[in-house]
Amino acid sequence: MIYCVEDERNIRELLVYTLETTGFEAEGFETGAELDTAMKKNLPELILLDIMLPGLDGFQVCRQIREKRNIPILLVSARQEDVDKIRGLGLGADDYIVKPFSPGELVARVKAHLHRYQQLTGQHTGNQLLQRGDLSIDREGHRVYLKGKEVPMPNKEFSLLLFLAENPGVVFSKETLFERIWGEDSLGDTATVSVHVNRIREKIEFSTTKPEYIETVWGVGYRFRK
Ligand code: CA
Repeated sequence: MIYCVEDERNIRELLVYTLETTGFEAEGFETGAELDTAMKKNLPELILLDIMLPGLDGFQVCRQIREKRNIPILLVSARQEDVDKIRGLGLGADDYIVKPFSPGELVARVKAHLHRYQQLTGQHTGNQLLQRGDLSIDREGHRVYLKGKEVPMPNKEFSLLLFLAENPGVVFSKETLFERIWGEDSLGDTATVSVHVNRIREKIEFSTTKPEYIETVWGVGYRFRK
């Protein structure tokens, strides 16, 4: 559920409509006071908050919510000066959207913030545990278990292993893997990928020369065994 606080009826209806047509549940409120009353009954997953509101303005409402709640707040503003304030004040808002906004941008921002919060709070409802042979990969907890025993795995090794394990049977070139895990602008090269694959193998493979999980496809790259 997403709560939208906006005193201008047209914009409020547009916000709710845009969210509902993309599959979200949304409810509109005219003032911070109305939002406060609603939040005593039900907490939303995210709040879109207009700044120019009758009564308490969006800045004040944002500050009040932040004192108590860790819910993503996206401020909606028509003015550049407000945007400057949002940046400067440290209000605890997660983002801001400038009016007039495009529905596509609104939805993209909402999704991005929901996703980030779900990751932070571990509320992801998807399949958390990926099972491959004796290997269990806890996507959200960033942990790897071999026969039930935890294998310490730093971030990049974890991401690389998870990516390969999520795509069993598919060969990826070192270039592709480097781009996916490190990002195009990162320092390093395809040798980084080999180094990490070797480290992972030392941790999860019974024999690193005859790997059960991550196979080398000579001249091409790596493949997680199906
Ligand atoms: Ca307004």
